[in-house]
Amino acid sequence: MKGEKTDIGMTAREHCDVCGERTEQIVQIALVSTVNSRDVSPANAKFARVPCRVTTCTACRTERREAHRRARPPTGRS
Ligand SMILES: [Zn+2]
Repeated sequence: MKGEKTDIGMTAREHCDVCGERTEQIVQIALVSTVNSRDVSPANAKFARVPCRVTTCTACRTERREAHRRARPPTGRS
C-alpha cells in the first residue's frame, strides 16, 4: 500500500463546476494538513490533519477537495 490517497474505488455523480453538470466523479479520501501560517508546535501538527474528500471528475479531470466539515455548499444560480 502506498500513497497519501486512499482509493476506495468509489464513484459518485456530482456536480462539476468546470463541466457545469453532473458528472461521474472518483471519490477518494486524503489526509491534508490544515496548518497554515499559524504557530503550531510540532506536537500539535500531527493532529492538524483532517480527512479530506477528494473528488476527481472523470470528464475534465478536475480535482476538488473538501474537508470533512460542515461546509456549506455554494448556493447560487447559474
Ligand atoms: Zn468536470
